[in-house]
Amino acid sequence: MEANSATKRMDAPGPMGLVASRIKALIDGLRLTLRHLFSKSITMKYPYEKRTLPAGYRGLHVLRLDLETRRMKCIGCTLCARACPDHLITIETSPGEGKKKNVDVFDVDISRCMFCNLCVEACPHGALELSSEYELATETRDGLIYHKEDLLEKLERLV
Ligand code: SF4
Ligand code: SF4
Repeated sequence: MEANSATKRMDAPGPMGLVASRIKALIDGLRLTLRHLFSKSITMKYPYEKRTLPAGYRGLHVLRLDLETRRMKCIGCTLCARACPDHLITIETSPGEGKKKNVDVFDVDISRCMFCNLCVEACPHGALELSSEYELATETRDGLIYHKEDLLEKLERLV
């Protein structure tokens, strides 16, 4: 019985057809290679060359300083720590002058940080922000816990 035309399979190419298709693929590949050889490179020599980050990029946290007093703006209210969905911020305070508190410990464990910015948005004093620092790889887990001293904004950023 003759096979239905809808169910007919395409004939496999013969040896000459196979050779021709291989040669065509080779020529196509060489043509593509040559085209890229003489076009402008789109790769960057990181870390010697770095991309300009987009506005609003969210990197490592920084604690902001008061420009006049040169002291950290943070008052230890813990709102940022409570806003963090993963509980990555640890704050410890002790009584300071009058009703003020001393912020003794301000740690951020960035190992699970999503850089979601919720902690920054929760701060009523503009004391915390996410900087553009992104080269944060370390060899130890402890290296991913940033302490108050690490997070304090560098003074040169303020001038
Ligand atoms: S950026 Fe998000 S995940 Fe990271 S510490 Fe802040 S609130 Fe938590
Ligand atoms: S960074 Fe802001 S929200 Fe967090 S403890 Fe300091 S003042 Fe409060």
